[in-house]
Amino acid sequence: MVGSSPMQAVLVAPGVKGKQVLPYKRDALKEKHAIAGLMRSIAGSGVRSAFYVLDLARVVDLYMRWHRALPDVRAYYAVKCNPEPALLGALAALGAGFDCASRREIEAVLALGVEPGSIVYANPCKPEAHIEYAARVGVNLTTYDSEEEVAKVKRCHPNCELILRIKGPDNGDAKVDLGTKYGAHADEVVPLLRAAQRAGLGVAGVSFHIGSGGTRTDVYRGAIEAARAAFDAAATLGMPPMRVLDVGGGFMAGGTAFDEAAVVIRDALAEHFGDLPCVEVLGEPGRYFAETAFTLAARVIGKRTRGEVREYWIDDGLYGSLNCVLMDDYVPRPRPLATPRTGEEAYTSTVFGPTCDSLDTVVTGYRLPEMSLGDWLVFDDMGAYSIGSGSHFNGFSMSDIATFLAYSS
Ligand SMILES: *Cc1c(COP(=O)(O)O)cnc(C)c1O
Repeated sequence: MVGSSPMQAVLVAPGVKGKQVLPYKRDALKEKHAIAGLMRSIAGSGVRSAFYVLDLARVVDLYMRWHRALPDVRAYYAVKCNPEPALLGALAALGAGFDCASRREIEAVLALGVEPGSIVYANPCKPEAHIEYAARVGVNLTTYDSEEEVAKVKRCHPNCELILRIKGPDNGDAKVDLGTKYGAHADEVVPLLRAAQRAGLGVAGVSFHIGSGGTRTDVYRGAIEAARAAFDAAATLGMPPMRVLDVGGGFMAGGTAFDEAAVVIRDALAEHFGDLPCVEVLGEPGRYFAETAFTLAARVIGKRTRGEVREYWIDDGLYGSLNCVLMDDYVPRPRPLATPRTGEEAYTSTVFGPTCDSLDTVVTGYRLPEMSLGDWLVFDDMGAYSIGSGSHFNGFSMSDIATFLAYSS
């Protein structure tokens, strides 16, 4: 870490240094509302379209909390969750590594001065050209869960080491159950280890992902137990001892879920890996770092009154960063940026996004006070699977949405 405190290290990090970082006072009792003052001053300074505020102090807090709860688990931030360069730079300065899934994600992280050894290429099925790029820049650790991938990695990057991605216990409660797409089933573990052995590729360890956005934390236990079984299977096959256990993502910042997950992981590591103290444990948190650190303000650009019902158009929507409503089960609860006036009436309202598709509807039957053109709506906890997965549909581009950096104290 550079600098005398984590926050100072973040302020001089690539992606942050040279940019303005706006201070605001966090209010412990009304945390969600504290940011409104800062957003009002940004809106008042002449900004005329949707913008984000990224609270870097929040990122520092989350990092320290991770470090306290899981001191022996290095966090490799999953870039796909939100690739904002200031977030990547801040996490790099704090000591995080990175989970990258494509050439561009690797490029973005290397551009911040991160060592290739701090990157896991954590996509079990990769295009050949991307693997060749990883070979050129020295990213030498990647996941796999099929025999085809072994042959491909051998061809494109013969010095690469593998991590076997296994499927954890079913987790239907998660917003995104990645087990339907990725992870070796128990009976596939030995054949996949053998395939790597035959190809002469080292298998450095095992990874899993319990699913994203779930509230169950007990699933880490079963997954860590299954990972240990894969370690033992490799030993039985006479393979060199594995040294990496990657517990994936699925962590949540809100409430007590993270601390509960940390307890489960610490216990399961002691139980199943206590006799292998040299195993390096890492995690791939995405949502944990990004979700609560970003707040969106979108501007009212259109209005129609139909009897008692108010209909508004705002300048971000389901084809933009609010794609998380469809893709990530984000439940929008927008509130006006303006200070509520006493005795203000609320109306049943619809809020549309800016594109000409009727699907682009953010909320319906939602109670809001009377809004006017130029007013703003605030959306909390908008950092996960939002900015990174928006489109250019209808000419409304994600790149038109600015991100202001802030520092709460
Ligand atoms: C998406 C993803 C992550 C991040 O998951 P979160 O639930 O956001 O923490 C981590 N690892 C892999 C392989 C992923 O695909």
